Amino acid sequence: MPFHFYNTQTRQYEEFKPLQEGLVRIYSCGPTVYDYAHIGNFRSYVFTDLLRRCLKLAGYQVEQALNLTDVDDKTIRGALARQADAGLKELRAHTDIFTNAFFEDLQALNIETFEHYPRATEHIPAMLEIIDRLTEKGYAYEQDGSIYFSIAKDKSYGKLSHIDLSNVKSGTRYRTDEYDKEDIRDFVLWKAEPPQSKMAWDTSYGHGRPGWHIECSAMIRKIFNGPIDIHTGGVDLIFPHHENEIAQSECAYEEKFVAIWMHCEHLLVDGRKMSKSEGNFFTLRDLLKQGHHPAAIRYFLLASHYRQKLNFTFEGLEQALHSLKRIITAWLRVKSCAIGGSDIQLPLRRWREDFLTQLQDDLNMPRALAVVFDAVKEINSALDRQQDKLTDSDKKEVLSLFDYFDRVLGILRYSGDFAAIAEVPPHLSDLLAARNAARAAKNWVEADRLRDKITAAGYKIVDTKEGTRLEKI
Ligand SMILES: [Zn+2]
Repeated sequence: MPFHFYNTQTRQYEEFKPLQEGLVRIYSCGPTVYDYAHIGNFRSYVFTDLLRRCLKLAGYQVEQALNLTDVDDKTIRGALARQADAGLKELRAHTDIFTNAFFEDLQALNIETFEHYPRATEHIPAMLEIIDRLTEKGYAYEQDGSIYFSIAKDKSYGKLSHIDLSNVKSGTRYRTDEYDKEDIRDFVLWKAEPPQSKMAWDTSYGHGRPGWHIECSAMIRKIFNGPIDIHTGGVDLIFPHHENEIAQSECAYEEKFVAIWMHCEHLLVDGRKMSKSEGNFFTLRDLLKQGHHPAAIRYFLLASHYRQKLNFTFEGLEQALHSLKRIITAWLRVKSCAIGGSDIQLPLRRWREDFLTQLQDDLNMPRALAVVFDAVKEINSALDRQQDKLTDSDKKEVLSLFDYFDRVLGILRYSGDFAAIAEVPPHLSDLLAARNAARAAKNWVEADRLRDKITAAGYKIVDTKEGTRLEKI
């Protein structure tokens, strides 16, 4: 079965056929490196990682770029706050701090390494080339030293976001990088900067710096030199950012820019939009500092469908941890089981096929995970039946099934952190819970009786600041 994806531009599910057989070329809008990225940002990066892993699982080669916006209003403001006469070198030093932090965060979440991480400041010539073309073709004009894109000249403007163009203010302009989404105006391609500004380039368009939208168009052209298969981003980028990318690229090169646009929905926190003033704003680092496990955060962001709004709560994070522990525990159990018993006769091949089929259906992760948990349940019962024994070939095949799932889930590499729990048989965990309940009720006789049962089974109770756990004696 081929992949089917929902294309934001056509508003339809489409069968996916790469432009070049066997190879998928993807561009994903990355962060503006002016601060630490928040968990809403990481939802979008976990989604592009999911897309990439699914395509690879189906046998495609993937070439993917994720850009770093390292010059814009916010990065410049940050560099100036650090040093009043900051220039391009200081801007780079400032953005490097957050770029490095971003890469550490991607690793913490086990997001794969992509082929390209282009930086905007290293692609100024590619941006100028597009502006040259737009100027020659009459799509761009100068005003007060800056160059603007005239949306009135582009007859197909609005085709991605399907915006209502009837209230377009012709000839009025936005000079800022981000602007009011209701108010459609010409956008800036090249911004003139005052002569004293050191965070600018001297070009044929004067002393200035690029607008935000031109960066992505230029980096896509430079890296892929032609149309790409998939462009991803969060839904908040559809307008104006992606609309403007299409306008610039298609007017400059007169060819289709992107075959399929895929957008990931918002992450809400406790049902509300994340915002610093509401006190519900979390960077990944905030959550890790609070002791939350990166695997739980990865799993939480991955487990829902990317086109549905996701509501972040701490209970949700707990549930994610619980679910991923079930998978890891079963995997460790298979890994450590003895050789013996008889054939388990489980539909290992069908689970593998079903898992991929669900993902090929617009990356339906909830249904793919249902397949995984069906497998986990059946494998655990087989191990119960055979007292933790599998034949040599069953053991190999079951482990290979887990590896197959994990090429998308990416959670087994965290298993070291969960190995201690995994060794404890479930009935002993129940005994521990009962013993703790007895202690809480000050029923010391019952608590001691349960402790002795646990000890007799070869485990001791360890007190930690998170609570109690069992360890093999
Ligand atoms: Zn972009």
